[in-house]
Amino acid sequence: MSVVIGIDLGTTNSVVAMVEGGMPVVIPNEEGNRTIPSVVGIQKDGSRLVGSMAKRQIMSSPGNTAYAVKRLIGRKYKDDAVQKVAHLYPYKIAEAPNGDAYVVLNDRQYSPQEISAMILDYLRGLAEEYRGEKVTDAVITVPAYFDDTQRQATKDAGRIAGLNVLRIINEPTAAALAYGVRGKASGTVVVYDFGGGTFDITVLDVSEGVFQVRSTRGDTFLGGEDIDMRISEFLLSEFERQYGVDISDDRVVLQRVRDASEKAKIKLSTLKETEVNLPFLFADESGPKHLQAQITRAQLEQMVEDLVDQTIEHCKGALEDAGLGVKDVDELLLVGGQTKMPLVQHKVARFFGKEPNRTVHPDEAVAIGASIQAGILAGDVGDVLLLDVIPLSLGIETEGGMFTKLIERNKSVPISVTQVFTTSQDYQPMVNIHVLQGERALAKDNKSLARFELVGIPPAKRGVPKIEVTFSVDADGILAVTAKDLGTNQEKSVRIRPTSGMSEGDIEAAIREAEEYKKKDEEKREAVSLRNKAQTLIYATERSLAQFKERIPEEDAARIMEDIRNLKSALSGQDFKAIQEAFRQLEGSAVRISELVYEGG
Ligand code: AMP
Repeated sequence: MSVVIGIDLGTTNSVVAMVEGGMPVVIPNEEGNRTIPSVVGIQKDGSRLVGSMAKRQIMSSPGNTAYAVKRLIGRKYKDDAVQKVAHLYPYKIAEAPNGDAYVVLNDRQYSPQEISAMILDYLRGLAEEYRGEKVTDAVITVPAYFDDTQRQATKDAGRIAGLNVLRIINEPTAAALAYGVRGKASGTVVVYDFGGGTFDITVLDVSEGVFQVRSTRGDTFLGGEDIDMRISEFLLSEFERQYGVDISDDRVVLQRVRDASEKAKIKLSTLKETEVNLPFLFADESGPKHLQAQITRAQLEQMVEDLVDQTIEHCKGALEDAGLGVKDVDELLLVGGQTKMPLVQHKVARFFGKEPNRTVHPDEAVAIGASIQAGILAGDVGDVLLLDVIPLSLGIETEGGMFTKLIERNKSVPISVTQVFTTSQDYQPMVNIHVLQGERALAKDNKSLARFELVGIPPAKRGVPKIEVTFSVDADGILAVTAKDLGTNQEKSVRIRPTSGMSEGDIEAAIREAEEYKKKDEEKREAVSLRNKAQTLIYATERSLAQFKERIPEEDAARIMEDIRNLKSALSGQDFKAIQEAFRQLEGSAVRISELVYEGG
């Protein structure tokens, strides 16, 4: 089997890894970075920038740059969670015809799946470049608490990117794999995973290569982003207090404030106090206005303590579900960038009564675990068995709008459950089944996954037809439904209407579009990368010219300066070939400097 990559598709950052010679390797991008910002910028002509390049254009084009779309994947626009934060994003979030949350960039709607696909495709490209071969198979991680729709949507994103998604695995389980396979661990391991957008807590039993998840809890809308938003709200209200103006509906302002908030938060992980300084944040008739504010670590902790406390409540729940107490925990692993916050480390250590294990890399453990799972599937890694669980119960709507569970949460996957349905009226030709996921008693409080219609039931008195419906959850945690008429022993046709997600037609259209843009994007990437290289070369050459002035003959210096001028002038235009030509020219003449310097000793 060819190589299979492991991808941690994160809210804030993503990481791609693979097993090589039996060891997991994290693949860096062109700039040598191992974590890739999960950011996508859409240009006016529809072409895309991904990763660091997109992150750099956030400030100049905040309305056309999407980040944190993982928070929207598999969610409805009207979800409370989405509504609560939508106004704090500098890009527009809109409602798709099926009610899903979409993002609007450069006047076009994109599903979060399409945006995620652009990130996945970029990561695949890094792996291909690194290996020098085509890569099509992947294992992608999701938060353990992702429901069926969110998992399916992540798989669809993989398909749009042209990836064959061999397995979806849970992020904490992946982190445990990264830790356990390397450390040959055994015992009860707790993985506390606080990332950019989501929080998960997972309890596992690890013994002789078997990783059995006992319980998992979490919140797919609780992460570092929420902490940043609290700081942003504080800064915006501070501005309003100082100047009496509300500036929270200006996209550029929002982006600058958000960016400064995250930076301040990260600084406060090591410093006790920091200053936020945003000159010329806003201007009106009375002139430019600057935002300046001091934030102390204590203030930040006060602002967000309730968010961290929510994670501790989930920890209690997960231990309870596993039937364990804090004393039973042998190892505590912290993953996700947000666990670098001292308040988080402090509260978690206090709750579990032990210090976390420091051998796992909080930013890379998930991707490494995904690559190990990829290695298992490719046959490169042996003697490891992963037994994951379904995070939320699955069931159907029954009499009086109640929710009846067929598969309880924390059951090991894959799992299959069968139930016999019948009709409630005489000669009823079909049965409607509403499938839901969640823990609440009333159907309406749970997430609606799909509606099924069992059609073509032969005429019979009520209660006579017997139709056996099987719910199967695969190793990815994704549900499939089949039905059989026990009278005729025939498979019944099941008409599925998923209540969310992209239709088959939408996905195929997105695949075509992704292929169409691939070439364009490649060109764009090359152009941006050439511009960056050209600017670096100009800077370095100008510096060397000044530094070694006495050792460079005048005619050489004049020629080099001429080449610098030409490259600068080419850079001010859009002609890629001209930039390429001028770059080569300067590259050639700049070599002369080092020759002269070294010749002269
Ligand atoms: P992840 O999804 O695991 O990449 O986590 C990203 C989140 O971690 C973002 O919200 C970051 O702002 C946050 N983060 C990264 N480094 C730090 C740090 N040193 N202190 C606090 N938060 C951090």
